[in-house]
Amino acid sequence: MAAKKFPKRDLFTEAVTKWKDRLWANDWLIDMYDAPDKLHAQEIPDGPVKGTGATPLAEITPRLAYLTAALYYDGPALDEMSDGDIDTVALHEVCHLVAQPLVSLLANVINDAVPRGADDVYAKWLGEANERVATHIERIARKGVKEWVD
Ligand SMILES: [Zn+2]
Repeated sequence: MAAKKFPKRDLFTEAVTKWKDRLWANDWLIDMYDAPDKLHAQEIPDGPVKGTGATPLAEITPRLAYLTAALYYDGPALDEMSDGDIDTVALHEVCHLVAQPLVSLLANVINDAVPRGADDVYAKWLGEANERVATHIERIARKGVKEWVD
């Protein structure tokens, strides 16, 4: 059998499938794209320098009504990472699917029911809360379920 061209990228997509199953998220269909140019720089809210940005390694865009999601990832960056870190990136993105029903509900409330002012910070707050919840679920799955420790 020929060597895989991008084994780390294959590891990532296989890990997404594994975590989807482990986290009971198999009702979601995920289209995965190796497309670093589609990733958006994000502010790190609690970073050492406020306002500094970083481009994520992967970014998932769920469409809850259809249970589909587009997952963009940075293949060249994954090529340089450890297997464990790649697995954690995959897990984290699947955690966003678990949180998505509440994220979508809150986004709808913000968009349709909350008066908007000049200081329209709700999208930023929602984004930060979404990351915190996804990271929390990720850590439970990573460290809290002993039989899942790879
Ligand atoms: Zn995230």
